[in-house]
Amino acid sequence: MDKALAKERLRGRNCPYCGVDRKILAYGNIENDGKEVFQVVDCIVCEKQFTEVYSFRRVILTDYPGEDFRIDFND
Ligand SMILES: [Zn+2]
Repeated sequence: MDKALAKERLRGRNCPYCGVDRKILAYGNIENDGKEVFQVVDCIVCEKQFTEVYSFRRVILTDYPGEDFRIDFND
C-alpha cells in the first residue's frame, strides 16, 4: 500500500484503496468513546473498509436560550 497515495486520496475524501469518489462510500454508525469518534466506511467499488477517527472536541448546546453555548474539551 502506497501511504502517500492513500493520504492524498483521503485528503480528497476519496477511498484510500481505489480512489473512488466519496459519494460512492457507505458511512456506518458513529461511535464516541468521549475522546475520539470512530466511523467505519465501506467502499462499494473495491469492497474494502477503513475507519475514520475524529477528536471529540466540542459540544454546542443549540437549545440553550439566547445564543449558542459551546463547551470545549481541549481547555
Ligand atoms: Zn475503494
